[in-house]
Amino acid sequence: MMGWNWKLLENFCTGCGICFDVCLQEAIAMPIEFALPEPVADACTGCLDCVDECPFDAIEVKEESL
Ligand code: SF4
Ligand code: SF4
Repeated sequence: MMGWNWKLLENFCTGCGICFDVCLQEAIAMPIEFALPEPVADACTGCLDCVDECPFDAIEVKEESL
């Protein structure tokens, strides 16, 4: 089965939290403010809003087999 997932490019991420704010699927968790965001399992729909809005190009979204 195929599904969407997002991956953080940690070297580029500043922890700004914009991706967390824009993801309507709550597929991006930020348990600690200004720390690195973390994926929430099975929540990403591949809408690409986080990719569009991350100012540092720190997110990749891919369809992959689950
Ligand atoms: S928007 Fe980009 S830089 Fe900001 S927390 Fe998300 S991935 Fe990191
Ligand atoms: S692609 Fe869309 S659903 Fe997936 S993490 Fe980014 S904003 Fe959320």
